[in-house]
Amino acid sequence: MRIFISSLYTETNTLSPIPTGLRAFEEYGLIRDASMRQDVPASVPLGEIRRLAQACGDEIIEGLSASAQPAGKTVRAVYEKLRDSILVDLRAAQAAAPLNMILLALHGAMVADGYDDCEGDLIARARAIAPDAVIGIELDLHCHLTDAMVREADVIIAVKEYPHIDMAERANELFHICRRTALGEVNPVAALVDTHMIGAYPTFDAPMSGIVANLRAVETRASILTATIAHGFAWADVAEVGTKVLVYADTDLRGAVREAVALSQQIYDTREELLPRYPDIATSLDRATALPGLVVLGDFADNPGGGAPGDSTYFLRELLARGIRDAVVGCFWDPMVVELCAEAGIGATLTIRLGGKCGVTSGEPIDLTVQVLGLREQHDQGCFGFRQKLGRAVWIRSQGIDIAVCSARSQVFDPDAFTGLGIALADKRLIVVKSSAHYQARFSEIADHLWHVRTPGAMSLDFAAIPYSKRDGQYFPRVQDPWALHGQPEPRTFVRRRALA
Ligand SMILES: [Zn+2]
Repeated sequence: MRIFISSLYTETNTLSPIPTGLRAFEEYGLIRDASMRQDVPASVPLGEIRRLAQACGDEIIEGLSASAQPAGKTVRAVYEKLRDSILVDLRAAQAAAPLNMILLALHGAMVADGYDDCEGDLIARARAIAPDAVIGIELDLHCHLTDAMVREADVIIAVKEYPHIDMAERANELFHICRRTALGEVNPVAALVDTHMIGAYPTFDAPMSGIVANLRAVETRASILTATIAHGFAWADVAEVGTKVLVYADTDLRGAVREAVALSQQIYDTREELLPRYPDIATSLDRATALPGLVVLGDFADNPGGGAPGDSTYFLRELLARGIRDAVVGCFWDPMVVELCAEAGIGATLTIRLGGKCGVTSGEPIDLTVQVLGLREQHDQGCFGFRQKLGRAVWIRSQGIDIAVCSARSQVFDPDAFTGLGIALADKRLIVVKSSAHYQARFSEIADHLWHVRTPGAMSLDFAAIPYSKRDGQYFPRVQDPWALHGQPEPRTFVRRRALA
């Protein structure tokens, strides 16, 4: 088998004040050997595919991998340049000898100026170059899962878990289903259901954990190849935003439809329980200070992993106002503060203006006298099997609070985002991280108590109030029972290799 692999990966929050240009991709790296490295998101899925291909004696031709931290729309010329770079390599590979498979690690919620569905555009162009190749796509579950993507690909699989701990597991599944398709052993046919819901659903806790268990059970049934719940990414003003279910069966279209309908019904019936009822900052701090042990809190709305700036000050301001000590907060994205503190040097005391710089959702900056206690020129952290860059970073302390400040914007995934700067966590009472849910995977190992906090910021949990202009307002929770308006949504079906059926 000849297999082309490549990756284009960013999540676009169209409400974010931060544009995504070429520098954002260069910061993570524009590389052609992601599958043999450990420092970009594509390393995990593409590395797994390379390992499996080698075991099968298949040939891998690897194209560009480009990823950027989530932010606002990608600049049009930058998207086109990255896309065309992938397609030039793909065309050359196909010209050398026909490809059997094209396996791409994409996000699924990338928006560029002039392109609301970058992945659908890329997959369609890949299809035009290699009409007979099996095209398999691994997506983030925070994807829009558009009709164009499903129509042009043979198999699409999104991760099942949020935190995304199963990227390698899904790549393994994708590789095997696509290889069997290329060998003519199976014939994937798909059913796609739009649930008319918009939300955010971490999977480590009930009720979503139970729905994911059922999703896995569906895949054990006769003829079912794979099933995906695409949670969707709410903070994007695109026509196809929303929560969807996609089921592939081997030739058995009725089976795919039946399981997709049943899964969407289960999610829909659970919609009230799936609403995020997280406590606000004041309630969380009241509760945290009364609890024994280490409390870890997630600052949901200032999550750079969802395109938020990472410089909001609401949480830190409340900690300071309450005189809470033995606390850790981070990671602030404030390159200017990093520069000033690095220039002053370790041990220096100086007055800085921290955060609150990127927009109205960031709140007001905080003027603080701080001591510089740690500095790393190239800080990084663990992230689901790869190392994620945090850039030049400092550890500063003020009024008993340790603060991590970074120059490369990222949510916190791993305690080593703090310990890597020298911050000890063992004697702390409270850790506040800028992340919505991914931090839960590693911080639950050290926390006595952990929960997500409803904070002000760029990722509002008030889904009914997000100002969409490109889709209708007939979705839950803006409407209590959207299915009552038009009936249960009809699955859309996709049959690509009819000749084999
Ligand atoms: Zn995601």
